[in-house]
Amino acid sequence: MVEPTRPPAMFIGGVAALDFLNSIASPVDIPVEWIETGEDLLNWLLQANLVKSKVVEHMRKSAGPGELDAVAVQARGLRDWFRTFVTSHMGAPLTREAIRELKPLNRLLARDEVYGQLVPRHENTNDEGATGLEFVADRRWRSPETLLLPVAKAMADLLTTVDFTYVKECEWHTCTLLFVDTTRGHMRRWCSMGVCGNRAKQAAHRERSVRASGQDSESAPSSRRRARP
Ligand SMILES: [Zn+2]
Repeated sequence: MVEPTRPPAMFIGGVAALDFLNSIASPVDIPVEWIETGEDLLNWLLQANLVKSKVVEHMRKSAGPGELDAVAVQARGLRDWFRTFVTSHMGAPLTREAIRELKPLNRLLARDEVYGQLVPRHENTNDEGATGLEFVADRRWRSPETLLLPVAKAMADLLTTVDFTYVKECEWHTCTLLFVDTTRGHMRRWCSMGVCGNRAKQAAHRERSVRASGQDSESAPSSRRRARP
């Protein structure tokens, strides 16, 4: 089967949970779905650093036919639900009352089987007071559905560590990419300067030229155009 050409997935959200929401987007006007199939989900999780390659290999070998694709369907459902939550709360600090809407996420988190292990510490660490050992957390990957759990944990991290005041959607009218604005002064408006920042610059430039040539004077009603990239 020939894979349709698809640009690489985007990781501009600043946190994994927003990158997950950005796994469907319209970077160049046509919507792109990066989690179409179970194999897509595995690849996305790997690129997002949410699972290790040995987990991906294990899932490929152990999942029954159609099982991974079914999890991809669930992942998209989880993504739709969480996008609604995030877009309805972004722009202001999250309050305690938000918990009422998060029952589906808590149900998912309750299925997690996380455990810890002591391992030799990675050699090039400079942590003060660190010994030669470190504690790492892993989870039991019992079924393909377990693949939703690192995503749920990433969502929990977003909800508990990020000020929703600075969660933003790119301001370009056709762009749905979400990100955490960590800039000083919190003036970030675009998913990336290279894509929507550039589109906005070009649109502003076109508008200025139109105005300068007199086509968009006040007597010409609503000739203000939306830019096309
Ligand atoms: Zn954008």
